Amino acid sequence: YSEEEKTEDYLFKIVLIGDSAVGKSNLLARFARDEFYPNSKSTIGVEFQTQKMEINGKEIKAQIWDTAGQERFRAVTSAYYRGAVGALVVYDISRRPTFDSIGRWLNELHTHSDMNVVTILVGNKCDLKDGREVGTAEGKALAEAQGLFFIETSALDSSNVTNAFQTVVKEIYNILS
Ligand code: GDP
Ligand code: MG
Repeated sequence: YSEEEKTEDYLFKIVLIGDSAVGKSNLLARFARDEFYPNSKSTIGVEFQTQKMEINGKEIKAQIWDTAGQERFRAVTSAYYRGAVGALVVYDISRRPTFDSIGRWLNELHTHSDMNVVTILVGNKCDLKDGREVGTAEGKALAEAQGLFFIETSALDSSNVTNAFQTVVKEIYNILS
């Protein structure tokens, strides 16, 4: 066998879910392209973006799926979830209703994908300090109760964005290897 043939290839499908305008598309844009759109419309969403990462010297491709805004109509299809091994469930720390929706998003995730899908709860827009409506401790408590990882991010100032995706990819890798 050549070195090439011995190298295992990993492709992990990861989905972004959460209410409209919580920053899902911008988290992906920041992570994959280091870009940010101050006034993004839901139409900027790509179907998915593949990002190469290295974990323990192994090359991993994270195929990250973004909605094209259909979450506004409660019409994220089962095809979106099919085969997902990871999920980022996102809310906006400056809008409590988006946090109240998390339970529903988790139900939908577990209806359409494997129960063991590695999931991180993401409180985005943590740069909006004055507008905060959901405390860090509340996010943490919900994540603990549901057995999820937890992180607060800002797609605007880049805080923890790479960390959020890496946490999921590393855990999937650990489970599979
Ligand atoms: P999506 O509908 O969940 O994909 O949300 P978008 O990524 O389209 O973002 C919705 C709006 O929130 C846009 O105007 C973004 O510029 C803004 N936004 C996204 N992430 C952040 C963030 O971390 N901080 C702030 N202040 N605004 C953000
Ligand atoms: Mg979007």
